[in-house]
Amino acid sequence: MRSKIVAGNWKMNKTLKETEALLAELSAKRPDTEAEIIVAPTFVNLATAVSNLASSVIQVAAQNMHFAENGAFTGEIAADMLLDIGIDTVILGHSERRSLFGETDDFLAKKVDTAMAKNMRIIFCFGEELQERQAGRHFAVVEGQLKNALFHLDANAWQKIVLAYEPVWAIGTGETATPEQAQEMHAFIRKTIDEKYGASVAQNVTVLYGGSVKPSNAEEIFSKPDVDGGLIGGASLKADDFIEIIKAI
Ligand code: PEP
Repeated sequence: MRSKIVAGNWKMNKTLKETEALLAELSAKRPDTEAEIIVAPTFVNLATAVSNLASSVIQVAAQNMHFAENGAFTGEIAADMLLDIGIDTVILGHSERRSLFGETDDFLAKKVDTAMAKNMRIIFCFGEELQERQAGRHFAVVEGQLKNALFHLDANAWQKIVLAYEPVWAIGTGETATPEQAQEMHAFIRKTIDEKYGASVAQNVTVLYGGSVKPSNAEEIFSKPDVDGGLIGGASLKADDFIEIIKAI
């Protein structure tokens, strides 16, 4: 089901105390909205976040997980560990996982399969790098990322997928895609999905934009017809900024 979502990816930020303080502030200031609000703190603080938000509509997601059931994967986290503490949404394919930790489309496809087998919801991130856009290859890159990691799924599985188009050149750089660039790519993403799965899947998938969304630009980006919300990095670390972005939707 297509829905409006504002999700905050906290990355490797916030100690336990800071996490609790930010969650309390978000809960207190949260505006009434039909949009889903999701936060993704670091692994060690997930259980606390779930418990502190037990009576809140704010949901908690993980930033990553491994594809294996369990075993000798030092430092990794399995799906069952997340499910066990009440987390059924996971961000996969973030550009930092791809560029800094070498995660490829094929590797991500395995994680996608595990998440599906465990009936988890995925926020799947993808997007082109600056030189790919400059070379006019951005549509081909995005198409390839979708096809390689997700197009082996059957149509039903798409109910559990949220897409997050995040041009790498806009992540954490302060440089944002223009609302027109975001809309153009989101429309292309839906067209690509339509060609493979048909209009119903394409129209029902939620497609978020990520890349330096802030209070000053959120409303214009979210006003575009194929943009269903945002995945927010830096601006999700300050309650007032994140709240302003939620209000913009
Ligand atoms: C992100 O990391 O997913 C992101 C969009 O970061 P920022 O908002 O800081 O660009």
